[in-house]
Amino acid sequence: MAKRRRIRWDRVLIVFGPIFLLILLIHVGCRHRGETESSEPDALTSVDSMELTESSETSEAVPAQAPFRDLIVVVDPGHGGKDSGATTKDESRLEKDDNLRLGLAVAEKLRSYPHIQVIMTRDTDVFVGLQERCDIANNANADYFISLHRNVSKNGKGVEIWINNDYTPMEKLLAEYIMEWLEKAGISDNRGTQTGFRNNNGVDDYMVNSHTNMPSCLIEMGFMNSLEDNRNFDDKLDQYADAISGALIELVTDKGIYTQDGVQ
Ligand SMILES: [Zn+2]
Repeated sequence: MAKRRRIRWDRVLIVFGPIFLLILLIHVGCRHRGETESSEPDALTSVDSMELTESSETSEAVPAQAPFRDLIVVVDPGHGGKDSGATTKDESRLEKDDNLRLGLAVAEKLRSYPHIQVIMTRDTDVFVGLQERCDIANNANADYFISLHRNVSKNGKGVEIWINNDYTPMEKLLAEYIMEWLEKAGISDNRGTQTGFRNNNGVDDYMVNSHTNMPSCLIEMGFMNSLEDNRNFDDKLDQYADAISGALIELVTDKGIYTQDGVQ
C-alpha cells in the first residue's frame, strides 16, 4: 500500500509563486499595450480632423455637409365618410373605398423605401375637407402630394393624371413618370397628363393641386363605370401601388433630390 505523502505547501509556493507572478506581469503588460494601441487611432483621427479644419479654412471648395432628412410624401385618398365620390350605377362600389384601398397600399410601398415619411390625409373612412387636406401637406412642408381618385363618365375608360394649369416642370415630370409606370403595370387606356379641372375649360384647377405648396398631381385611377377598369383595379392593386411609389422614387432619384440616405 502506498504511503500517503504530505503536501509541502512551502515548496509549492516556492516553485509556483514566481510562475504565477510572471503570468500576472505578462497579463498586465498586454492590457497596457492594448490601451496604448487603441488610443493610437484617436490620435490619428484628431490629426485628420485638424487637417480637415485647416484645409476647409483655406479652401472654400469643401462645403459643410448638411444633415440628411426624410423625403415627406402626402398620400391623399379622395373623398371619404359622408362623401362617397363616384359610384357604380348600382352604387355597390364607392370611389371613396377604392381610393382608400389604393392609398393605404401606396403608403405601405413608399414606407418600404429608406428615409421616406408618408403622411396620409386620411387612413380610414372619414370625411376630410379639401382645404384641410392641403393644410396637412403645407403644414408638414411635404415634398410631394399625390391625390388618388377614380373617374366616372358614360363610356370612359383608362387613367388620367391631372396637374395645375400653370404646372411646374416637376409636376409635369411627376405625372409623366407615374403614367409611364402605370402603363407598364397595365391599364386599359392612357388618357394622358391633363391640366386644370375636368369640364372647366382650363379655368380652374383641382383644389388639392392649386392649394398645395409642393409638386402635386391627382390620379384618376380608371372609371367606376368601366368593368375593365374595375377588374384591373382589383387584380392589379398591388402593381398599381408599386408603380405609383416606384415612379416617385425614380423621379426624385433621377433628379438627385433623394438618395438612400434621404434628402440633403
Ligand atoms: Zn374623386
